[in-house]
Order: sequence, then C-alpha cells, then structure tokens
Amino acid sequence: MRFEIVTIFPGFFAGIFENGILRRALAEGLVTVGVHDLRTFTHDRHRTVDDRPFGGGEGMVLKAEPLAEALASLGIKPKTERESEDDAAAGTRVILLSAQGRRFMQAMARELAGLGGVKLDRVVLICGRYEGVDERVSELYCDMELSIGDYVLSGGELAAAVVVDAVMRLIPGVLGNEASGEFESFGVADAEITSDTEGVPRSQHGAGGLLDYPHYTRPAEFGGMRAPEVLMNGDHLQIRRWRREQQLRKTLANRPDLLEGAVLSAEDRRLLEAIRREAR
Ligand code: SAM
Repeated sequence: MRFEIVTIFPGFFAGIFENGILRRALAEGLVTVGVHDLRTFTHDRHRTVDDRPFGGGEGMVLKAEPLAEALASLGIKPKTERESEDDAAAGTRVILLSAQGRRFMQAMARELAGLGGVKLDRVVLICGRYEGVDERVSELYCDMELSIGDYVLSGGELAAAVVVDAVMRLIPGVLGNEASGEFESFGVADAEITSDTEGVPRSQHGAGGLLDYPHYTRPAEFGGMRAPEVLMNGDHLQIRRWRREQQLRKTLANRPDLLEGAVLSAEDRRLLEAIRREAR
C-alpha cells in the first residue's frame, strides 16, 4: 500500500512517520509514503498555489491547476478519463481532506486498508489550506471527501496523518497480532469468539462495534486504587464476561449511538438492560 500526500507544507510530515508501528511498517516495506510539495507544480516566480475566491468573502482558495498537475505527475487522470479496466485507477483512491466530507470512521479505515473486499494499492490524500480547495478538484478528480471530525482544522495535513495511521495499522502484517484490530474499539469481530485459532481460551471479547474495555497493568495498587481482582484470577471466562460488561458500560456512557449497530448477544442485551436500570 502506498500513500501519496499532496501538501503545501511537506515539512509537516518530517518525523511524523518515524515512530512506532508506522516506522516499522515503512522499514519492512509493508507501507510506503510519498509526500509531494504542491509548490513544485507552479510556474510563477512566487510559486503561487492560492488565489482570491470568486464572489468575494474571506481568505484564499487553493488553485485547481497546481493540484491537477500534481495529480497528473502521479499518473492520475480526471475521473471521466479513467477506464474502469485500468488496474492503476481501480486500485487507487483519490481523497480530499475536508471538513465538509463524509466522516472518517473505522469502517472506512478498513475499506481503505483493503479489508472490505476491494484491494487498494494507492491512496492519494490532498491536503487543503486556507478556505479550502477549488471545488472543481473534488468534482473532477476525487473519489471522496473525508472529514476526520466535526471541527475545522487549519489544514488537511493533520487529517491526512490521521488517515494514514488508522489505515496503515489495519494492513495485514503491520500489527504483530493479526486479530488485535478485532478486539479494540469499533472492532467488527463477532462478540462470541471464545478461543484463538489454536484453541487457547480468550479472555477478550470481539468488540462487535463497541468501545474497548478498560486496561490495567502493574502495579496492582496505584493512587489508592486496586486493579480489578477479576483480572488477576486467571479465569478466562470470568475475565471475558467482566470485560464485556465494561465495554457495554463505557459505550452506553460515552457513545450510546454505537449500540444501535453493535453485535449484541442475548446476554449482552440482558446486561445492558441491567446497567440501564441501575442508572435510573
Ligand atoms: N472553509 C472550510 C469549511 O468551512 O469547511 C474550512 C477550510 S480549513 C480552514 C482548511 C483545510 O483544512 C481544508 O481545506 C481541509 O483540507 C482541512 N480540514 C479542516 N477541517 C478538517 C476536517 N475536520 N477533516 C479533514 N480536513 C479538514
């Protein structure tokens, strides 16, 4: 998988990919990242990438021509000229980061990582600045506009880094344990996984679309609080049940909207009802 990032601030990405999992994934060649300076695709003395908005109003707008040239340099044609049987186009997604875009969520991260059935080999991320990007760039070239949340950033660079991080860690081979993505917040695995592929009992629940359960490590006693005893007794079944209850509690408290799409067993529903009764 290759990420291509088009930006007026290439320096923003210096160091950002040099830590943790992404650094390892890059070193092992599982992921590659190209950062492209939009100003390279200008032809005037001032290397102008922006201009005043038609119709007046605040700020400046990123011009279409340098972006079109940057995309052409990556072999990306306007959508109308892409042939469906063209493998390069089929395996590429061109994305504009925008506060007006579809909300970027774990399901989209999975799709871009190729876990949704369509295997992608290239994700192109266009970072806006100022008041945004000339709309024709999106209409002519972009497969989608993505927003990382309901707030306005000063540029698309942070959003691009978020997308790269969230997608990259789901690419097969990047996380040490292939299944870990299923056991964390928003994981899709069915809630009923009770053992791993070798039959070893699991003390974790597939997230089934819920938030993660709380985690604890040594020391057992900290700040006058003891880590939950149940986690220290080695009983996988009890631990799994306790964690599931915590997942339900946390999701109900912080993100009740997720419960609608979650994979819930009859036991989960009973637990949830009991938790709701407690709160009344
Ligand atoms: N005028 C725009 C609006 O009101 O929607 C905001 C432009 S913002 C100051 C500049 C750039 O930051 C955008 O073009 C986009 O690339 C990026 N950006 C801002 N908020 C974002 C978000 N929530 N998700 C993704 N990108 C965002």
